Formats: sequence, structure tokens, C-alpha cells
Amino acid sequence: MNGLHELGIVEAAEMLERREISSVELVRAVIDRVRAKDGEIGAYLTFDEEGALAAAEYADRRRAAGEKGPMLGIPVAIKDLINVKGQPCTCASKILQGYVSPYDATVTERLKNAGAVCAGRVNMDEFAMGSSCENSALGVTRNPYDRSCVPGGSSGGSAAAVGGDLAIAALGTDTGGSIRQPASYCNCVGVKPSYGRVSRYGVTAFASSLDQVGPMTKSVRDAARLLKVLAGRDEHDGTTPPVDVPDYEAALEGASAKGLRVGLPKEYFAEGSDKEVLDIARRAADALASAGAEVSETSLPSTEYAMGVYYIVAPAEASANLSRFDGVRYGHRSERAEDVFTLYTRSRAEGFGPEVKRRIMMGTYVLSSGHYDAYYTRAQKVRTLIRREFEGEFKKFDVLLAPVAPTPAFKLGSVLEPLQMHLADVFTVPASLAGVCAASVPAGFSSSGLPVGVQLIAGAFDETGLLRAAKAYEDVRGPLERKIV
Ligand code: GLN
Repeated sequence: MNGLHELGIVEAAEMLERREISSVELVRAVIDRVRAKDGEIGAYLTFDEEGALAAAEYADRRRAAGEKGPMLGIPVAIKDLINVKGQPCTCASKILQGYVSPYDATVTERLKNAGAVCAGRVNMDEFAMGSSCENSALGVTRNPYDRSCVPGGSSGGSAAAVGGDLAIAALGTDTGGSIRQPASYCNCVGVKPSYGRVSRYGVTAFASSLDQVGPMTKSVRDAARLLKVLAGRDEHDGTTPPVDVPDYEAALEGASAKGLRVGLPKEYFAEGSDKEVLDIARRAADALASAGAEVSETSLPSTEYAMGVYYIVAPAEASANLSRFDGVRYGHRSERAEDVFTLYTRSRAEGFGPEVKRRIMMGTYVLSSGHYDAYYTRAQKVRTLIRREFEGEFKKFDVLLAPVAPTPAFKLGSVLEPLQMHLADVFTVPASLAGVCAASVPAGFSSSGLPVGVQLIAGAFDETGLLRAAKAYEDVRGPLERKIV
């Protein structure tokens, strides 16, 4: 190891516990690394170094007073749409430039209570709309494994930070793949919890029936630990049910491939994807099978409708959620406003980027009278079919295994067509629509040295089963070389 910035949560916590390092030292190591390297990567939008060091000092005092805690003193990078009191929260949009959060999101509050240090705000596609981070209005983020490539998106800053050892761990959000796909591109573990597992209070809404916050980490164990801190009922978010949150990390004990029932949905292995990506997913399945898993092919016939449904439901909800950005209460206000109408229209025209505008227009269209039943109502019906199909699979299988995305990270600037960009999510969107949980686990490298993850999907609220399968795979896979450039 060359420095403390390379540590994951569990390793860092052990060293803190043994008093081999302090939280201040750990946070300082991350800051030094960010200073040295982030000029080339661009994972962070802002980093309040003083604030992070003060929080680290506080964590060290808590420890000195006898407190223990699984995240005590551990820095976590935060995607720039999650509110942390006193810090910027721009959603990588010009419309929120200069906005400072007046309150903590529930996930932030839970991190702070657990003693974690909110360290730095990381880049993303504007309002989480995108698959490459290139829709950020505030900066370019590069893939730490090949600087000419994208880090994926929308949680591209989170993935580049963790994958490039510019963070110990990070929070991302996933609406249609934004944790899993960048995790795959940047060699991280990324977990999209079941819908309702983690509170959305204080997380800027994109598509409210899909959005979930989740951990992006260097190991499955780290993800289990961080998810336990984030998860659970929150009275501020009515979609979080009052169900117990298991001790995910303890549940990893004895995780094994033996007897694990793994389904390979054939639609996810069809032609059209990069051959190396398919090979890596197949090799992951073979490795599990050799270690005693029962692997068999299955089918999710509605898969082909998922993208169509997603690009009706997500923009519809986005168009409603983004109506609050009107130049009055938040962020950018046009200087060319002549009356209240032009105040709205010009502030929005100047503040939102092209992809966000496209989504608002699509969403407004599918919700307009005359089109509502034909598009929105129908999409909701198909969504129910997709959910039921997944439910059926989890009667037969513990997990489904599939590629995360059809290709490894692509070159910056190479995908110009919006529809082409949307295809990066074909394999992640279905699980989002179904509300089930899913993870991306590093599985290997392409011949050109780009990381590729494998996706595991489990039933709603079966994060324990998901993480146990992920751990079993991580163990049979063995250590992966990390070739950060
Ligand atoms: N790339 C998808 C989109 O643009 C998913 C984004 C996300 O999960 N936030 O909508």
C-alpha cells in the first residue's frame, strides 16, 4: 500500500480502532491525494477541507471518549445532489450554482450520527440525467483507469473518486443504473438498494418512484457496513416501510456459493453487447458454478419494454419534480426577466442544460391530456408486468446474474446521440422499475485495461441475500489488480 487513501472502510476502521491512525490523518491523506491527483480526474466539484478536518477531529474526540462505531472517523464523498447542511448542493447544474444546503438529508444525518465525515462533493450528470457524467454543467470527470474515457454516470464523480482511490467510500444515487453502471466502469462495488430501503428525504428528486441512495465502495463488506448506516424507516419519507434493517455485515459471515441458486436471464446475454463484457459475466457465472452454485438459464421476456417504460416514467416524474426550479426560491435567476412569466422561462432556459430540457419536454408531453393514457398509464401497466416477472424469478432463484452495461467505459465525447447514450442502461433499468435490489461487483478488465463489473439482482428487501451472493462471488473471484493510471 502506498498511502492511507487506498484503504477501504473496514481496513481504515480497524486501524482507527487500534489507534494506529487518527481520523484527522486519514482525512488529510485523502485531501493530499485529491490535491495531487484530482486535477487530472475531476471527481470532485468542491471539497471543504477545513470542515472535513474539523469533523475528523470531532470523530477522534468521540473515539477518545470511548465511543466505537462502524463508520466513526471514516470520510465519505457525497454526490452533489444530497444535502449536507452548510455545503453546496448544485446537482451539477447551473441553476443551483451558489446554492448552500440549509439542512441535512436523512442519509447525511445518519452518516454524521455514525461518526462518518462528509468529505467533498462529487460530480454527476446534471440532475442525475445521463450515463457518462458528460452532462455535468460544472466540469469534466475522467475515468481513473483510462483518462480518455468517461467514468460512467450519473454517479461518475462518486465512482471515479472511489475507483481512483480519491475517496475511502462514496454515496451515489441510482434511478435507472447510476450507481451500478459507473461502479462497473470504475472498478467499484455499487449497491442500488430496493426502492424504499433508504430514505430520499433531502436528496434532490429526479424520478421519485425510482430514486435510491446507495453505497459505492472498494469491497462488498464496505458496502454492507455503509448500507446498514443509511437504511431504514424515516418518518420524512413515506415510501420507507417500517421493516427491520438486518446487520448486513454480520450476515456476510459464511457467505458461500454452495447451493446458491443463480439465474442467467437470456435477454441480458443476447447479441449486441460487447463480447468481452459478455465473457466476463459468463466467467463470473462459471466461477460461482465451480464453487457449488446451481446456475441455470432463465428468461425475463418483458426486458425489451423496460427502456420504453423508463423513458416515459422517469421524464414524467422529472418534469414535475423540476418545476420547483423557477428562479424564485432556488439558485439562478435570470437578469433578463421582465415579468413573472419571463422570470420563470428565462431562468429555466438559462439554468438547465440540454438533456434536462429534453427530459422536461418529454415528461410534459407524456403527461399532457390526450397523451396521458396512451403513454403514462400504459407505461405504468407494463411496469407492473416487469415487476411481477422479477417476483416470479425470485421464487426460483436467490439472485439473477447479468452484465451491468453492454460495454466497458467509452471514450469521452464519443456518444453524441441521446438515444445511444440511453442504451448504456438497458441492463440496469429493469431492476429499477421492479424496485428490487441490485449490485455491481468488479469482475475483471477488458483487453484494453478497462474495468468491467458483473450485476447481481435480488428480490425486494433481500439486500442480505444480494450482499451474501456478492461476497460469495468476490471470494471466488479473488483479488483483482487495480491498475489506476
Ligand atoms: N442514465 C439513466 C438516465 O439518464 C439513469 C440515471 C440515473 O440512474 N440517475 O436516466
